Amino acid sequence: MTSQNSHRSEVVHDSLRVFLDDLAARAAVVLSEHINAGNHCAACGLTWPCSRAVLADHNLEMAHP
Ligand SMILES: [Zn+2]
Repeated sequence: MTSQNSHRSEVVHDSLRVFLDDLAARAAVVLSEHINAGNHCAACGLTWPCSRAVLADHNLEMAHP
């Protein structure tokens, strides 16, 4: 019973790691496109920092603190 529980938690941990790595990879793509171009975002044209860049920055910090 104990070994089953241990195995189960490893699987959950691996899934979380994969999820966070994927999150970080997608956040990095957003941050490479949504860049500051004279106080406006180069991708969406909103006032810098745009909401997508802020969100991606938070995601990156969460994935790799
Ligand atoms: Zn943007």
